[in-house]
Amino acid sequence: MHISLSSDFADAVPEMAVSWEAVPVPEPELLALNEPLAKELGLDSTWLRSSDGLSFLVGNAAPGFAQAYAGHQFGGYSPRLGDGRALLLGELTDTDGRLRDLHLKGSGRTPFARGGDGLAAIGPMLREYVLSEAMHALGIPTTRSLAVVATGGVVQRDEPLAGAVLTRVAASHLRVGSFQYARNTGDHDLLRRLADHAIARHHPGSTYLELFGQVVAAQASLVAQWMLVGFIHGVMNTDNMTISGETIDYGPCAFMEAYDPKTKYSSIDHRGRYAYGNQPIIAEWNLARLAEALLPLFDTDEDKAVALAVETLGTFDEHFERAWIQGMQAKLGVSGDVKPLLKDLLTLMHTDHVDFTSFFHALSGAARADAEPARSLFLDLAGIDAWIARWRELGPDADAMDRVNPVYVPRNHLVEEALAAGSDGDLGPLERLLDAVTNPYGERAGLEHYASPAPQDFSATYQTFCGT
Ligand code: AMP
Ligand code: MG
Ligand code: MG
Repeated sequence: MHISLSSDFADAVPEMAVSWEAVPVPEPELLALNEPLAKELGLDSTWLRSSDGLSFLVGNAAPGFAQAYAGHQFGGYSPRLGDGRALLLGELTDTDGRLRDLHLKGSGRTPFARGGDGLAAIGPMLREYVLSEAMHALGIPTTRSLAVVATGGVVQRDEPLAGAVLTRVAASHLRVGSFQYARNTGDHDLLRRLADHAIARHHPGSTYLELFGQVVAAQASLVAQWMLVGFIHGVMNTDNMTISGETIDYGPCAFMEAYDPKTKYSSIDHRGRYAYGNQPIIAEWNLARLAEALLPLFDTDEDKAVALAVETLGTFDEHFERAWIQGMQAKLGVSGDVKPLLKDLLTLMHTDHVDFTSFFHALSGAARADAEPARSLFLDLAGIDAWIARWRELGPDADAMDRVNPVYVPRNHLVEEALAAGSDGDLGPLERLLDAVTNPYGERAGLEHYASPAPQDFSATYQTFCGT
């Protein structure tokens, strides 16, 4: 099979693309292959499973590019991050005519590796595979996972682990940090070429200011969609925020169980900068960094450029609010003004530590007649009964609710269980979890385990880890 990849990014901004080869993988073993995605890309799954196909999936068929980018990590600026253990293989035109990046993670050190070993362990790559495919099934814009291939090599972390390469697919890998990098070089021509490339790729015909406005709108909508399913990204550094509006870099991310805006799982997020409830304000902060990077393209007069940037950034709140409220109306199965109702509901859920996913799923039962599964999640029964009575007056549509409230999300304990088994060579739990979370709506017999919150002792101490 011949796969024709373009190099639009490298052609547009060669200063930001270092031609580089993936580390040789003599004994690749396929752990996961996304056949529906392969089909969408026009790639033959039988061929992908062959030795030539595996060689392609780990980047041994042709060189790729390590992309340069900068970024604010936990608020602190690094002018040079870049793909330290990743490579862009190139862009592929899919069967719908869309240009998609094919990208590797765990493919060896690059000139951006700094102290890192350039490698990835099986567990975290399977984690990205499950989480990203679950997000896609929930209808949330995201990079996709085509395959995870075990390398046969050892990755030294706290203990020796088996290595793997993830083959990732994205609308592009342009990040807020890509623009910060270009701006930081002081080369306005580079900045302009990068912005032209982003416009050609994502918003043809737009002006630079319109491009910025579209990224603001896309990110506001994305973060609202995260919030509506209880997703916590966990490491919203500017290098992990896309221009396309797709979720990227599934490191320490997790789904919230008990509703609490302060929820965070990442072991390195000591102050909760990236906690569930902070995500909108952080997205807006990151977009302000994007505006700073793009400023010279908005207007040659700096004061004018700043005024335009501020005005456009100011649309974030309305975009976010609209997406959040419309999403919540859908979850509650009602239209009209839900704000007061929502505020009271979230207070009750917070006080009583109610499981976010379980509640919204159970609530459609209360629209049909049986309120018990929903109300039994609360301690304050009088409080939830009064709330349900108010909500029922709005005439909720139970069937519509079931179409938007997932039953199965990748709950932390299930993910950990599947990754532990997968790292030990048993892919059964991973496959069963994938089956549940890639068909998230509507209860299915035999999958009760996948719809239940984690045991108390698990949730109390659960932490996620970055970049392993
Ligand atoms: P992340 O937090 O995973 O998005 O990564 C932040 C930066 O660290 C990026 O520049 C990555 O390429 C780099 N990085 C993370 N892990 C490694 C590794 N094992 N080897 C080399 N670079 C890495
Ligand atoms: Mg990253
Ligand atoms: Mg605001």
